Amino acid sequence: MIRFILSIIAFGCANSFSQDRLNVDQEIAQYMQRKMSNETESISTGSVSNGGLINGVLMPYKGENFIYFDRDSYLEGRAFLNSMVRTVVLNSYDSLYKLMPHRYFCIMECSNEKGGDFFPHRTHQNGKSVDFMMPKKRNGKPYYGLDTLGAAHYYIRFSDEGRYARNPEIEIDFNLIAQHILILNYYANKLGSGIEKVIIKIELKDELFATSYGRLLKETDIYFAKALSPLINSLHDEHYHIDFK
Ligand SMILES: [Zn+2]
Repeated sequence: MIRFILSIIAFGCANSFSQDRLNVDQEIAQYMQRKMSNETESISTGSVSNGGLINGVLMPYKGENFIYFDRDSYLEGRAFLNSMVRTVVLNSYDSLYKLMPHRYFCIMECSNEKGGDFFPHRTHQNGKSVDFMMPKKRNGKPYYGLDTLGAAHYYIRFSDEGRYARNPEIEIDFNLIAQHILILNYYANKLGSGIEKVIIKIELKDELFATSYGRLLKETDIYFAKALSPLINSLHDEHYHIDFK
């Protein structure tokens, strides 16, 4: 709770990404420097729910149009990926930057450096699972006021129509999510991989598929989880989880 309050004080409920937020602080910069040297190709072992990661690589804390959502999570070593998956994710942000340079994205938890147990997640064990924060809008415009909550973002709730429980003016940008998934799928396929599975709250899938990019997404063979336990379902209203092949 204290961390939650501090993050609000530190960042304010800004409506746009402040320059401050995009400046990487010293500690993060040193961590990246230490962890991003001597990178080789990663090897994922086992499955997303029982696996490991050899030569895991670190997501950069931020790029032109994205930022990792929680500083503590990052420094605790929870932003590692299989190198192929990281390339796919970075390529997707690059494409989005070219298409919409003023739209910003948040990436959420990935994996431990060596994979394995990743509490409280059941998956994220072999560097091939990524949580992406739902992009949001308010009155049709990009909205970032909820993007600076850090780990507390996992606990905010949206209605089955994708509206923020505490303020229905704030809604999930489903069309942008669909576009992002299509781009991720494109790059994953290009690298000989693909998307294994997307998890998004079951009740939100019709909203997603009703958008213009959503209709294209529905025509692909990308697999969306069809049934989830009530707990897992309820946790996937503020981020979309993707397992890569
Ligand atoms: Zn996840």
